[in-house]
Order: sequence, then C-alpha cells, then structure tokens
Amino acid sequence: MYTESTPLTKVLASREAKKFKDSRGIVTVGDLLAYWPRRYQSPESNLAAATVGSYIVAVAEVKSATTRSMKARRGTMLQAVITDGSKDLEITFFKAWGHEGKLVPGTKALFAGKVSSFNNRLQLAHPGYSLLSDFDKGERRDLIPIYKQVGNLHTWTVTECVRMVLDLLVESPEAIPEDVLDRRDLLDRTSALRGIHTPQSLAEVAQARRRMSYEEAFVLQLALAQRRARQAQESTIARAPRPGGLLDAFDARLPFTLTAGQVEVGQTLATEMARAVPMHRLLQGEVGSGKTVIAVRAMLAAVDSGGQAALLAPTEVLAAQHHRSITAMLGDLAEGGMLGGAEMGTRVTLLTGSMSQGARRRAMLDITSGDAGIVIGTHALIQEHVSFQDLALVVVDEQHRFGVEQRDALRGKAAQPPHVLVMTATPIPRTVAMTVFGDMETSTLSELPAGRAPITTHVVPEDKPGWMQRTWVRIAEEVAQGRQAYVVCPRIGDDDEPEEDAEIFAPDAVGDSDGDGGDDDGAEDGEAVPPRPLASVRRVHAELVANPALAGLRIEILHGRLPADEKDAVMREFAAGQIDVLVSTTVIEVGVDVPNASVMVVTDADRFGVSQLHQLRGRVGRGGLPGLCLLVHAGDGEAAHERLDAVAGTTDGFELARIDLRQRREGDILGSSQHGVRSQLQFLHVLEDEALIEAAREDAVSVVAEDPDLGAHPRLAELVDARVDTEQAAYLERG
Ligand code: ADP
Ligand code: MG
Repeated sequence: MYTESTPLTKVLASREAKKFKDSRGIVTVGDLLAYWPRRYQSPESNLAAATVGSYIVAVAEVKSATTRSMKARRGTMLQAVITDGSKDLEITFFKAWGHEGKLVPGTKALFAGKVSSFNNRLQLAHPGYSLLSDFDKGERRDLIPIYKQVGNLHTWTVTECVRMVLDLLVESPEAIPEDVLDRRDLLDRTSALRGIHTPQSLAEVAQARRRMSYEEAFVLQLALAQRRARQAQESTIARAPRPGGLLDAFDARLPFTLTAGQVEVGQTLATEMARAVPMHRLLQGEVGSGKTVIAVRAMLAAVDSGGQAALLAPTEVLAAQHHRSITAMLGDLAEGGMLGGAEMGTRVTLLTGSMSQGARRRAMLDITSGDAGIVIGTHALIQEHVSFQDLALVVVDEQHRFGVEQRDALRGKAAQPPHVLVMTATPIPRTVAMTVFGDMETSTLSELPAGRAPITTHVVPEDKPGWMQRTWVRIAEEVAQGRQAYVVCPRIGDDDEPEEDAEIFAPDAVGDSDGDGGDDDGAEDGEAVPPRPLASVRRVHAELVANPALAGLRIEILHGRLPADEKDAVMREFAAGQIDVLVSTTVIEVGVDVPNASVMVVTDADRFGVSQLHQLRGRVGRGGLPGLCLLVHAGDGEAAHERLDAVAGTTDGFELARIDLRQRREGDILGSSQHGVRSQLQFLHVLEDEALIEAAREDAVSVVAEDPDLGAHPRLAELVDARVDTEQAAYLERG
C-alpha cells in the first residue's frame, strides 16, 4: 500500500524507475500520477492519418503476415499488413524472431512508430507494439491514454507503470474541503486521478481535469487571500493631501488638462493613501495613456505629507529617462534646497547600478537624509543598502518585469509598510489579473489623451524586391519633415544572442512542439531549417549609414551593453532631436517618450511577441504626429504571419494581449520569463478557466475568513506552503 510520497523505486522495476527519474525527474508515486497523458486515443482510430515522417500510434489488426529469408543478410524478416478496417499499412521487422509468434493474422495490437516509404508504399519499420490482450488485461477500454515519451519507454509501458501505481495507491489525501467539493460538483482527488489515467470516456477526462484545475486555482487563490488578509492587518502612516503643497503647485502649471480617467485614478490613489492601511493598487493603461503623470502626482502627494517616494523602473534607460522627464516636469519644484529653487521644492534623485561611486554616494546621502523626496532607480534600489528617511510610496513602473518578491523587497526598505502603486502598459486579462496580481486592486486607464494621432502599421515582406529600400526611403521622408525614426533589431551584433530583455520567439517556441510518446519524439517537430541570421543593431546601422537614400542623416545606435553614460547621452541627444535615426534593441520598448519620433521599423518582427510589438510601436505617434510602424519580416511561418497581421490589424492592447497569451505556453504567461512566479501551473488554463478561477477565489476568501492560518485544513496549508516556496525559490534563482 503506497502513498503519494512513496519513492517509485519501491513500486517499479529499478530500470523503469531510473528512466522516469532521468528522463522526466519523476521520483515519487505522486510525481508519476501528476504525469498527465498528453492525449487520449480511441481504439477505433484509423490509419488514414499516416503520412511519411509522421509518428503514429494506432490500434490495428494484423491482416496477413509472412516471413521470408533475405538475400543480402542472414535470418528471416517479417512482413505484415495491419488494418484498422478502412486502411491498410505495411509493417516490417528485419528480424522476425520473437515477433512471428505474436503478430499472427487476427491479432489486435497498439502500434507506434514513424511512417516511412518503401517502394512507394507507406510502411512502419520496426514499430513498437503492444498486444491489446496484454495491454488491456482483458478489460475493454474506450480510450487509450498516450503519454509523452519517457526515455525510450513506450507509451504503453508508461501506462502500465501508472496503472500499477494507481492500483496500489490507498487513497490520495483530499485537500479540498468536503462542502466545497459538493458545492462545486467536483470529483474527489483519487477518482480524479483515475479519471485522468484510466478514463472510459472523454467526459470523464474533462471532469477529472476540472477537479485538478480547480485544486490549482484554489491553492493559488488561498495564497493570495492569505496575502490580502495579512495586508489588511498592516497599518501604516496615512498620507493625507496637503492643500497648497507641491501637488497643487504642480497641477497649477500642468501644460494640459488631465483626462477624466487620470482624474478619477488620481482621486482613488489620494483616498487610499490617506488611509492608515497600505495601498496595493495596480494601474493598467494603454501605452501612452498618461500613467507617468498619475505617478508623479501621487509621489508629490507623498512628499507633501512629509514622506519620500520611490519609482522603480525596469531598465537603466527608462530610469534615466524618468529622471530627466520628471525633473523637467517639476521645474523649480525639483530644486529644493538650491538657490532659485521653489521654497517648498524637493529633490529628484537617480540611483542605478552603473553610476560612479561618488555619484552613488551622493545619491545615497540624499535618500537617507530625506532631501530626495523622489527617488528614481532600477533594481539597484532594491539590492543596495539604501535606507530611506521615510519611504511613503513605492511606484513600480512596467510591472511585467517585476515579481511580487521584488515589490516586497522594496517595501521592506520602509519602517512602516509603504503604499504601493504598480503600473503596467501590458493590458492584463481579468483572469490573469486575478491570478498574477490577485493581491492588488486594479484601476484601468482606457482613454488616451485627446489629440493623439493614430498609428498605422504595415507588414513589410523583406524578400519582395524594392520593399526594403522603400521602407528606408520612408524614414528619409519623415526625417526630411523634421521627424525622427526608430529601427529596432532583435540583437546587438551578428555574433550576439538576442538581447536579454528581448523576448524573442524561437521558431518553435510558438505552439506545442513536444513530441508524442515513442522513440521518434522529434518526428512532429518538422525538418529543422537552418535559421537565417537575425538582423543586428551593428549590421543594420552599417547598412543604413552606407545607404545613399539616407545620406546626411544622423544615425546612432543604442543597446543594453553600452556604458550607462553613453546610453544616457544617446537618449538625451535623440530626445533633443540631434539624432535622426536610432537603431536599437528593445531597450526602447518600455516607456521611452520622444514625441517627435513618428516612424518605427522593426526588423525580423516575426521574432517578437504580439504585446511586445504593441509596446514597441507605442514609442511613435506620441506627439500629435501620425505614427507609422513597419513590421519587416522574411520568414513564412504561419503563426508568425498571424501575429504580425493581428498587430497590424488593431491597436486595441487588450485584444492583442489575448492573442499573445493564446499563442504562448501557459507557463510563460504566469511564468518564469516575466513574472518570475507561478510558472508551475499544470492543469489550469488562465484564459479559459475563468469561471473556475472565480469560483476558487470566492471559496478561498471564505475559507481564509474563517481559518486565516488554515489550521483546520492541514493538507491545504501544505499545498499553499509548497506553492509559495516554489515561487520564492524561483525568485531567488533569478537573483
Ligand atoms: P504611459 O502611460 O505610456 O506611461 P506617459 O505617461 O508617458 O504614458 O504619457 C505619454 C505622453 O502623453 C507624455 O508625453 C505625457 O506628457 C502626455 N500626456 C499625459 N497626460 C496627458 C493629457 N491629459 N493630455 C495631453 N498629454 C498628456
Ligand atoms: Mg510610462
């Protein structure tokens, strides 16, 4: 009798246990039960799908079988024809021995192998097979589970191992409270595991899957509910607005009127910061919707109340730009303590990792003394030993680069928990917001400030003669009208990997490219075409400089590996209009704001994600000039084409975010690359399982309300702890 924590070595033959461990990291009974079939197949499946090169798994009957001796070699070979009733397929074994007794006419078996062609006929050479009489042990199965390959074990060996484990398992401990199971009409855990591995029908699979997805959603929501409950218990200093302070002075000199949305969000923030409970708010707003002004106003309110505010940016370029633009926006209000500065003025201080020792020391002093009311920085703000005089508000810009843990780390810099505002320009579908940002309240800025000109986007096929030159000429035309251009490339130099920040899509990173069980795992991945070298900043820069159509233009480069002061200088010159064309990596993706830039060319655009392209093009069309975005692409991948057409077809960021998420793997959505957390969802589909997530959230809230520490739900507490641990581990790993 076994439990989920029993090691597989106690259950399986050591050879098989080792395969599971080495190939898939499956060590315990529980691990194996969590190894879900990749799909299910009905025994009536037909052979019609067989094409050369495809990997098939099919139930078929042996129609005829002959052995004959071979001319060139010793021994006999077995040739047989198998049929599913509608189509026949030849199978061949070059050594008949051992097979001839089994594969006799009338025998039914599950066959697996890669289809090849011989004498113009399709055949399976040396397929794996399992006689149905063995496979089903006499039981009639309506569905055959197909597992992803484990070492060189055949899918049916995996099936046998899973069944053995299932048969010996006493009971899988139930984590979900009885009344929840009833109310939500969910299977108990043990039945669900059987439903997954030995189902009689797809309906049973669906039910089992629903239960497992619910469990995942529930555990996740419990962790979030506990977090919210803890946050609600926290107390902090209320930061009430101060009439006649910096904020009022700032408002009085704003060169534009705030949009209705900006006003409303501003009021929400003011109200929440005036409470003695820390604010936790997520602000999402389209690229260019004016989030920065909102942040600045909240930061000024914090300073008015006697505290400090920190703005955390994901890149040095962005931190430097925020520093520049916020300092400029504030004018003499940012010259506190300086001759000629406004009397009540404060100081805006920049702190990044690459600043010189001296500059950093001065910045630290300002921060510690409280002279710096507003501190802008990168991760350095978290990592270094920065101590604030009185940190009242933390603003995290472009949240998708930061995880919960980083927010926590910065919160830890304050004596009393600060208020937190998180801003993101990547629209987040509701369910994702509930899952990834489930501990925060959300505000959305949906309107763009008036006077924004629309961005037009076109896809440019690189291989069509004349189109590329036309693209560069277009840039020259814009520059001739006094405007500026961005050219974005996926990597820096020809020998470089894509820049770290870029979320480059490898050709096979889209969709599911994992093979089926069986020996030929790679069979479904298609033939590998050697990739064309990606455009690089250096090469494109050299080409543009040499291009007569762009003669006389000032063309410069920007990328993450330039020294900080150089990056800064380039951005400053570009902002000042001293550079016409900026060839860069995606370092300009987020937040860079140069209103005079009107055209953007993205090279190898098919390698970027949908949301990322949307972010990128948000850099143009900001200054009342119509924006133009040209997406250059050479490949002919269908998925890539769809992505680009989608981006060209709409400027609705929410729609694009949905498309983007649908094209990624679930893990990536929540996961490692961006949020650094929650990459371990196995069953739950955050986009499709909306109703389930909502139900789980409701249930989690009521469980936590009654039992905050889950003392009465030990198994649940275990699962929640395990989840939180995984997330923290993921955070630590990333550093
Ligand atoms: P994002 O939401 O992408 O961070 P920003 O805050 O950078 O957008 O704003 C984009 C541009 O719009 C900035 O140049 C900003 O000064 C300007 N802006 C912000 N709010 C308004 C407004 N209400 N009216 C006109 N322009 C505005
Ligand atoms: Mg911004």
